[in-house]
Amino acid sequence: ALSIGIVGLPNVGKSTLFNALTKNDVLAANYPFATIDPNVGVVGVPDPRLDVLARMFGSARIVPATVTFVDIAGLVRGASQGQGLGNKFLAHIRETDAICQVVRVFTDSDVAHVAGRVDPADDIEVVNTELVLADLQTLEKVLPRLEKEVRLGGTGPAAKARAEALDAARAAYEVLNSGKTVFSAGIDTTALRDVHLLTAKPFLYVFNVDETEITNDRLKARLQELVAPAPAIFLDAKLEAELADLSEEDARELLASIGQRESGLAILARTGFDVLGLQTFLTAGPKETRAWTIRKGATAPEAAGVIHSDFQRGFIKAEVVSYDDLVAAGSLAQARAQGKVRIEGRDYVMQDGDVVEFRFNV
Ligand code: GDP
Repeated sequence: ALSIGIVGLPNVGKSTLFNALTKNDVLAANYPFATIDPNVGVVGVPDPRLDVLARMFGSARIVPATVTFVDIAGLVRGASQGQGLGNKFLAHIRETDAICQVVRVFTDSDVAHVAGRVDPADDIEVVNTELVLADLQTLEKVLPRLEKEVRLGGTGPAAKARAEALDAARAAYEVLNSGKTVFSAGIDTTALRDVHLLTAKPFLYVFNVDETEITNDRLKARLQELVAPAPAIFLDAKLEAELADLSEEDARELLASIGQRESGLAILARTGFDVLGLQTFLTAGPKETRAWTIRKGATAPEAAGVIHSDFQRGFIKAEVVSYDDLVAAGSLAQARAQGKVRIEGRDYVMQDGDVVEFRFNV
C-alpha cells in the first residue's frame, strides 16, 4: 500500500499526532492479534457516504478505505550530512510515497524549540534544505553514470529511456541547486523513478497550531502561502489526541466548541489520500458497505481487480450508478427504474463515488 511519511524537527508534535492517528488504527481494530510495526499507522478515511449506503442496503458492517502513515523520527539540521539518525532517516523516507511535514506553530514555554523560537517558515526551510541536499548527493552519484551511458550511445527504447533519464536528472539538479524541491518545480521525473528522489514526492503540511488559532483565517492564509501549491492542514495535535479518547458524541461536542465540524485527523486522512493520487469506488450489500482504493484514472477492470484478481481476469462489465444518483433515487431498484444504473465496459474510467457491481466469468 502507498504510504505517507510524517517528518518534522524535534518537539513539533509529531509523536503526539502519530499517537492520535494510531488510536484510529483500523488494522489494530480489525486484526487485534496482528503484529503491527509501531511506526506504521493504518487509518480509515472518513466518508459519510458509507453510513448512508449501509442504511440503504442494511449492511452488517462498514469498511472504509485506509491510508498508511509512517512515523519517521530523526530529522535534524545536518541530517543529510549524517547528523542525528542521518542516513537511516533518509532511507526510511525514501520508501514512502508522499511526505507530510509537521510544523510547530503552537507556543508553549514548557516545550523547548530546537532553534529557540517558533518560526514556521524557518523550520520548513531547514527540513527542505536537508531533503534537497540529500537529493543533490544522490544526483551527484547518478549523473556521471547516466552521462557515460548516454555517451556510449545505442538505439532503441532503452537508449531513449537513458537519454530521458539524463535530461530529467539535469533538470532536477538545476532546480535543487537553486534550493527548490523537485515537487514544487513540477518537473516530470517519471524517467528517474528508479533514483527515488525525496523531493520529487508530493508534499503536504500539518501546521500544529494552538487550539484558539484553528479558526484564525489570516494566520492560516499566511501559512498556506508558505507552502502552496502543497496542501496545508491546521490542527492542534494535543487536542487531536484528546479527541481520539472520546466517544463520537463527546468528540463532536468538543469540536463544535472550537467551531469545527470534523477532526483535523479526518481532514489529514482525506488530504493524504488525495495527495497520493488515490480515489475510491463503493460497493454495498447486506454483508458490507465498503470503500475500495484505486488510482485516479483506473479503469473498470482494474477496479474489479482490487476486489479480486479473478474479477479482473474474467471481467465482463460493470453496473455503475453514481452515489448522488443512487441517493436521489432512494434505492437501487428505483435508480434502475429511472435508468440511472449504467452498464460500463473495459475502457470505462472509474469516477470517485461510483457505486459498482461487477459481472465476471470465473
Ligand atoms: P516530536 O518530537 O515532534 O515527536 O514532538 P512530541 O509530539 O513529542 O511533542 C513535544 C512536546 O510538545 C510534548 O510535550 C507535547 O505534549 C507537546 N505538544 C505537542 N503538540 C502540542 C500542541 O499542539 N500544543 C501544545 N501546547 N503542546 C504540544
